[in-house]
Amino acid sequence: MRSAVFGPTGIDVPLIGQGTWNLEHDDPDEVIAALDAGLDAGMTHIDTAELYGNGRVEEMIAPLVRRRRDEIFLVSKVLPQNASYEGTREACERTLARLGTDHLDVYLLHWRGRVPLEETFRAFEALQEAGKIRAFGVSNFDVDDLEEAVNLVGEGRIACNQVLYHLNERSIETRVIPWCREHGVAVVAYSPFGSGRFPSLRTGGGRVLASIAERRNVSPRQVALAFLVQQGQVFAIPKAANIEHVLDNASAGDLELTRAEMRALDDAFPVKPRRDLPVL
Ligand code: NAP
Repeated sequence: MRSAVFGPTGIDVPLIGQGTWNLEHDDPDEVIAALDAGLDAGMTHIDTAELYGNGRVEEMIAPLVRRRRDEIFLVSKVLPQNASYEGTREACERTLARLGTDHLDVYLLHWRGRVPLEETFRAFEALQEAGKIRAFGVSNFDVDDLEEAVNLVGEGRIACNQVLYHLNERSIETRVIPWCREHGVAVVAYSPFGSGRFPSLRTGGGRVLASIAERRNVSPRQVALAFLVQQGQVFAIPKAANIEHVLDNASAGDLELTRAEMRALDDAFPVKPRRDLPVL
């Protein structure tokens, strides 16, 4: 599994991690077995949030976190409506209690809401000083939000920006990825398979994916993940609820595409002009 230093944290993180959104709908034993297999395969970055199942997902993965905490790069997120100074600190305590740990590796603001950013970041800094979080970051931020964030906390403090990024939604390549690269902020690609809308063989793009996959003797999903993380400073967090899917995704961490393959995918899935990020 290839890895890279995660923004300013200095921590080496695998390029492919594991998402947990909607896991509350899956069988709890299968979920733990899948995440366990993912950890064994090197996918140690586990992404969760207080939003997921209204806290149930954090509780669901707690047995794994308790058992293998030291191996996990654990990320969770505060909801914007909880992101006041006191609210953020309280939400973090609730998240830690549900997860059965005393610290997170990175704590993110899930998306920007009405609370002034300055309050949320002050809370993040207090949590960091107290040892409850090792680093903090943001999610769903466009370049204007990122500029504001850096003006508030300074360069080298924002660990990552977690954003929507898959083959049919490449708009972050225009401004967000270059900005993050320039400022040393890790980009984490969420919904890397389009959240269940993976390009099918009925589409031209799906056929290009399949033909590259066949030639390289890998799956189309591995090709898709490899394309995303090959942009540099980009990590991906696919969600998978069964072992077969997890192992398939983990193998993408070792797949390097050729320039010709990257070009073929670039042509098949053009960047569509639109604003940087979707409105949540
Ligand atoms: P996704 O990872 O794009 O797609 C998940 C879907 O792909 C599931 O239906 C899964 O099925 C299937 N799948 C996974 N691996 C597969 C494989 N190898 N072969 C076939 N099917 C496979 O969707 P996502 O959950 O939207 O995004 C991933 C993670 O990003 C989330 O879980 C969450 O942690 C994070 N996220 C963050 C935000 C944010 O606002 N910050 C928003 C959305 C998501 P099975 O489950 O049956 O394996």
